[in-house]
Amino acid sequence: MALIVQKYGGTSVGSLDRIRNVASRLKRTRDEGNQVVAVVSAMSGVTDGLIKMAKELSENPSERELDVLVSTGEQQSIALVTMALHDLGVPAASITGRQAGIQTTGSHTRGRIADINGSLMKGLLDEGKTLVVAGFQGVTKEGMIHTLGRGGSDLTAIAVAAALKADVCQILTDVDGVYTCDPRIVKNARKLPEISYDEMLEMASSGSKVMQSRSVEFAKKFGVVFEVRSSLNDNPGTLVLEEHANMEDVVIRGISIERSQARVTIAGIPDAPGMSGKILGALAEAEINLDMIVSNIAHDGAARHSFTMHSSDLGKAQAALKPVLAELSPDAKIETEAGIAKLSAVGIGMRSHSGVAATMFKALGDKNINIGMISTSEIKIAVTVDEIHIEDAARAVHDAFALDKAPA
Ligand code: ASP
Ligand code: MG
Repeated sequence: MALIVQKYGGTSVGSLDRIRNVASRLKRTRDEGNQVVAVVSAMSGVTDGLIKMAKELSENPSERELDVLVSTGEQQSIALVTMALHDLGVPAASITGRQAGIQTTGSHTRGRIADINGSLMKGLLDEGKTLVVAGFQGVTKEGMIHTLGRGGSDLTAIAVAAALKADVCQILTDVDGVYTCDPRIVKNARKLPEISYDEMLEMASSGSKVMQSRSVEFAKKFGVVFEVRSSLNDNPGTLVLEEHANMEDVVIRGISIERSQARVTIAGIPDAPGMSGKILGALAEAEINLDMIVSNIAHDGAARHSFTMHSSDLGKAQAALKPVLAELSPDAKIETEAGIAKLSAVGIGMRSHSGVAATMFKALGDKNINIGMISTSEIKIAVTVDEIHIEDAARAVHDAFALDKAPA
């Protein structure tokens, strides 16, 4: 008998029909002879709706009360899924975050899991019950309700799987798994049988958001192997796990893209210590998330700094930079460019293969696509291109690395 944790996201429990469907999938898994623990999100739109209400009511709602409010979304869905299971004759019980023994620390609306005590769940499983656990919530030592950040039900599922030493942890969602690239853009994109935690994290941070990144980090830390698969069919999905030797044979695992990026370049800054700190400090204070950062010395001896950010932050960035630049130099000027996008190629294999960047840049050059900024990490090469070319760029790089073909 295996212990299986299955997480169902908001879309999968988005209507009563879908809840019935989830219940019958749980029953099927149980009838195959397994112990089953479901972790569910709020029905789709519910969390957003609750946050919207709070913000309409109050300009600056208390985060403590926000947690009390939004955690009710998951509480609705666990009760409904459990009722649907009862209707199918399955002995089942709903479990809140507190009952699951999920103890959190940190701040309201972005609590972190400090500990999880699965003894209540274990007892109920031993009695033969199927459990339906509320995702996204936990309680502090003092008994305060915390939520775990948007998308936090993924984290609950991974933590519950770790605590119960589950044999299998499945993240059931509205996509079939993790693909070599977005199949809506690259028609011959291939579903990956497996991907390493680090690659999954890099793909997520560069635009392919399948799961909350914190959950992947947590899974890596506790060695929880999990599978991302569809809640609408029975196709095998993608296994996410610690890298193993064979995985390095593949140079590029996948490509992700991120649209709506903007670039800010500051020129005419004195080439002296402390300048970058001041500029980036102003942007950090304005809570602007920078992505790529490139600095160099122009021919006139003054430095240039360029960074990318989401284009919706552009106005805020300009406002934050103006006073700093005025202070730094009368020659300082700021140039901005919106309408760019980022293409990232990710793979642990690039640590042991050379020429990866060259192949990527040549593929783009052959299609006459100009590269703006370039940044790299040990397992990622990212470039910016004009947003209108991003889809062609993705297809060109996907072809260049033959990602449509399964490695031999
Ligand atoms: N309901 C929460 C959210 O919408 C948690 C989740 O769906 O994972 O962010
Ligand atoms: Mg979700």
